[in-house]
Amino acid sequence: MGYSPICHKAHRYDAHFESLPEYQGTFSRHKCAGCAFELGYFHAVNGIPKAIDDSVLDSIPYSQAGSVRHKDAFTAYNDGYKFALSIAKVA
Ligand SMILES: [Zn+2]
Repeated sequence: MGYSPICHKAHRYDAHFESLPEYQGTFSRHKCAGCAFELGYFHAVNGIPKAIDDSVLDSIPYSQAGSVRHKDAFTAYNDGYKFALSIAKVA
């Protein structure tokens, strides 16, 4: 399905992700935090239970550049999930 292991989306440069903590672990350090955010959002709006660890990030692309580099992608996932729920409340 045309899956690319490297993220080339514009959200790599989203300033929002500058505020994420630096990730010092081994697994999701190079995952795209922008894609992780969108994945969390997608899970929330589809009623999928929130993931408990960063193995959920297995399927998302890596990122090599921009604001999201070396950011904590699992934190971004949780942020996306929370963001979707906060929107659902006001809708
Ligand atoms: Zn991405």
